[in-house]
Amino acid sequence: MPAQQVHYGGMRVRDFENDNGMMIFGGMRAADIADRFGTPVYVTDEQILRGNYRRIHEAFNSRMPTEIHYACKANTNLAILSILNQEGSHIDAVSIGEVLTCLKAGFPADRIMYTGVNVSDAELKALLETGCRINVDSESELERLAKLTTDIPISFRITPGVASGHSAKVMTGGKGAKFGIPYNRVVDVYARAKDLGFDVKGIHAHTGSGGLSTEPFSEVVDVLCGLVNDIEAETGIRLEFLDFGGGVGVPYKAQEEEIDLDELAEEIVETVREETSIKTLALEPGRYIVCDSTILLTRCVDVKDAGPKKYVGVDAGFNTLIRPAFYDSYHYVAIANKFNRACTAKYDVVGPICETGDYLAHDRALPDPEEGDVVAVYNAGAYGFTMSSNYNSRPLCAEVLVNNGEAELIREAESIEELWRHQRIPERLMR
Ligand SMILES: *Cc1c(COP(=O)(O)O)cnc(C)c1O
Repeated sequence: MPAQQVHYGGMRVRDFENDNGMMIFGGMRAADIADRFGTPVYVTDEQILRGNYRRIHEAFNSRMPTEIHYACKANTNLAILSILNQEGSHIDAVSIGEVLTCLKAGFPADRIMYTGVNVSDAELKALLETGCRINVDSESELERLAKLTTDIPISFRITPGVASGHSAKVMTGGKGAKFGIPYNRVVDVYARAKDLGFDVKGIHAHTGSGGLSTEPFSEVVDVLCGLVNDIEAETGIRLEFLDFGGGVGVPYKAQEEEIDLDELAEEIVETVREETSIKTLALEPGRYIVCDSTILLTRCVDVKDAGPKKYVGVDAGFNTLIRPAFYDSYHYVAIANKFNRACTAKYDVVGPICETGDYLAHDRALPDPEEGDVVAVYNAGAYGFTMSSNYNSRPLCAEVLVNNGEAELIREAESIEELWRHQRIPERLMR
């Protein structure tokens, strides 16, 4: 079967197989998955997921021992975590909930590193009970942790003064950011941790999420290498690992270029080898590992010609996928059951949420959309389901895993009754 070329203004995105006008995903017709499990539904291809992990693992580990810390806030489904645990991944977790979820999926505690911001004492206590690694974000957190224990290895997140990302909302590393130890305090803080009796193992920074150039990585690694040497010179602490965070972007639009992982790994490993005696690297890809492994299938329920604009109304809104509404993100869309048809006009793909900002795609050429069609939203695996909500009292949708032509439910859709399960009506209001 010929791979389908998707055209929009001359662009071409990821090829999926096309079987007589039916989009094939994970060896199955996408429209059949929608019929069987209902819509909206997130569908993950296990082979793409494993391939992504292996590609980034290999690019670095063929050059230097490197821990891949999957940033699980991108997608915390237990089945997806179990697959990455089988692959030998480590975890970057940002909350106690994520740490406990990864333990439940089978990750050993020592492969989970917690990097929080504005961490409460209650959360610190709960983390200590799990035995996960703690990457400290502030001087306050260090002093509060020391009151609980100093008998654990720690590392610090520092503010590198380098920011990157697809949207200002996800740039985290710039000077003055809320994250990390301010650059000019770093050496003093390592000295303080040593005085308190901590075994300080590493240094970490994260510049932001979803950039497509290697430059921010080179810059942040330069900053980290400089600090590794300053820390050793001033405090005598010899750090074991250098973690340069996540943020490896993926192309959402066809004309965007993938990051060359070999070039990235080569550059970073060379710098670290030349400038320091660090023996282990870590990085924290979230989006890179899960993003293109997953599509969102949503059904067309209404088609409207509103004069200057035409709309394809679907059953997923920003309650299901918030990235377009929240970040103005671009997601490629195709009609899964008209996969080889010529496009007839441009449409906005919009959801059922009662806000004008509720959209999945603007001005897309589509092939004669009709009620009942299945719209596939590409690159939905990262920050898709995890950011979904019950807004407008809509239950969370299902998730499905496909693997070489077999589909399995990995999350049931919520019921309407479940929307009420934690609510209480005071007795006096029922009289
Ligand atoms: C969100 C986050 C990441 C992952 O970012 P991606 O763009 O998904 O790779 C990595 N590290 C930390 C500390 C994060 O907060």
